Amino acid sequence: MISENNVVEQRTFESIRYYRISDDTPSHPRGTVIFPDAVDQSGHIFTVWGFPRIKRVYVLERGLRRFFKERPFFLEEKLDGYNVRLVWVNRRVLALTRGGFVCPYTTEWAQIWAESMGLVEFFQDHPDHVLCGEALGDSPYNPQRPLDLPPGLHFFLFEISLPDGHRVPPEQKYELAARYAIPTVPQLGKFTVQELPAIKELLLEINNRGGEGIVAKGEQGERMVKYVTAASDLEDIRDHLPILFDLDSGYFTNRLLRTTLFVQELGLDEEEYAQRIGRAMLEGWSVLRNYRESAEEYRILVRNINTWKALQELLGTRVQVEELYTRPVVVHGRPFVMVGFKRVFRKSTKRFRMILKGYGHYD
Ligand code: ATP
Repeated sequence: MISENNVVEQRTFESIRYYRISDDTPSHPRGTVIFPDAVDQSGHIFTVWGFPRIKRVYVLERGLRRFFKERPFFLEEKLDGYNVRLVWVNRRVLALTRGGFVCPYTTEWAQIWAESMGLVEFFQDHPDHVLCGEALGDSPYNPQRPLDLPPGLHFFLFEISLPDGHRVPPEQKYELAARYAIPTVPQLGKFTVQELPAIKELLLEINNRGGEGIVAKGEQGERMVKYVTAASDLEDIRDHLPILFDLDSGYFTNRLLRTTLFVQELGLDEEEYAQRIGRAMLEGWSVLRNYRESAEEYRILVRNINTWKALQELLGTRVQVEELYTRPVVVHGRPFVMVGFKRVFRKSTKRFRMILKGYGHYD
């Protein structure tokens, strides 16, 4: 098994024991989860590999050429939510976060998803497969933003992986998703780099509606590469300026570089983007006018208030979370509790307060 003890954390979720690998090791990527009391179909201890990091290309044409040469690849839309791995343990669906925690909130929603998707049927047929997807909507990990989705949390599959860590090739994955009625991220089709004009058209359309970008995947599911839109970079800049001092120093310049390269490669109007970049900054920092604190607000929908308590405990181990309200609501004819909470960013709050009070700084 694993020798790097300082990165192995033992936890339990509702009496299910698991080990979480909290950082990359030579043998296991960060976010790997091991269920010592479960086995896969080959009789090995059930190990769910950490979801791999996806390389980003900053330039589209050269990036795709470098990755795929003349070979075909599948394009999928990149959705902007949080990464979820659904697994089958003790005859129930559990939802794992990217970092390898069983998330009580997403696990509760997985039960709701199972009412409309063939999740249970899928796992009965493939008990040791992992359904990897993006969760969007009323989310505890993405601050509240207007989204084109009904209330609730929504799951969009983007990978199916096997106990040895391999991924099911895209065509087979789409076929399985359709067979078990599991929604996927938008499938944009199969391309080669020769079809660049069509790929650019797709990106312009995604950019125009404020979408995040694309992920290109090899025919065998062996390689993946991501490319994001200027619209999503500018949205990130605007939304993150109030928490500037809690982020890496390269966060903003990296996005400005990406925006510039996107404008250049897709031949967009520079005047328009000069304005949009400026507006992102002024809007992002508009909070400084009547500044109180740097915080992000979240809204979630739970069936059981204990799910919120468990989530609050999980989030609270890493960040400062404050409950704002809980209120009973009916969503799609069913009772839920809506919970609002905020996450306060201490460093930024302290620094902006000092700046606005007129303190001097050596910077
Ligand atoms: P990294 O991959 O380096 O860890 P990150 O954590 O900064 O990157 P992102 O830049 O958001 O994350 O990109 C990777 C994530 O994109 C994936 O972990 C996954 O959750 C999400 N994603 C959204 N749509 C897709 C898709 N179609 N295929 C694969 N991943 C997708």
